[in-house]
Amino acid sequence: MRWFVPRTIRHARDDSGMTGIIYGRDESGLKPNGARLSGGLVVDTDNYGPLGDIDAVTIHHSAGPRAPSKAKAQSLHAAYQRLHIQEFGTGGHSRGDIGYHFAMDDLGRFYRLRPYQNKGTHVGGWNSGNLGIMLHGNYVHDKLTDDQNASLKWLFQGGFHALFGEPEAGIHVVRGHQEWPGHGSNACPGTNLMRHLAWLRSTEDF
Ligand SMILES: [Zn+2]
Repeated sequence: MRWFVPRTIRHARDDSGMTGIIYGRDESGLKPNGARLSGGLVVDTDNYGPLGDIDAVTIHHSAGPRAPSKAKAQSLHAAYQRLHIQEFGTGGHSRGDIGYHFAMDDLGRFYRLRPYQNKGTHVGGWNSGNLGIMLHGNYVHDKLTDDQNASLKWLFQGGFHALFGEPEAGIHVVRGHQEWPGHGSNACPGTNLMRHLAWLRSTEDF
């Protein structure tokens, strides 16, 4: 793939009209590592150990509500964090934290979720070296917004580098969840998002 010097996300706006938005984990609505949640749940961000060398990115949808505002995205992240800690992953132990590394809202803004240095729990059997980016919404029927289209394109033009902050990251593949072996029956990331991702890969020489 081609690596560019990352550009500002000119199209992405925050609720006050600012541009170039990548929210930190502390603004994502998640409880921090080690926090105790009601019901005896504990956030354990590095439950699955280090990610390892980055060589893949997987695009997901939440199959849930859209996030038209930062507040809505934050409340959804908190709900998914709790849900994922309650769920069991590989080896029958808790997933520890929200399974995805990043999320995107309707305005194409990114949120840092599980630290990318830690292995996520977003594609069973394929989480090593694999970063997970989730778009809020259900793209079996939802349509991508213009801002989401632009942010996805930006990812392929140096944005991956900007998100991960590691110029040496050797990303070989960007796949939709359903493209991983053993996950072909999964609807994620939805027909509309999958089609757009395939088109981006072809036009961006990926
Ligand atoms: Zn998925």
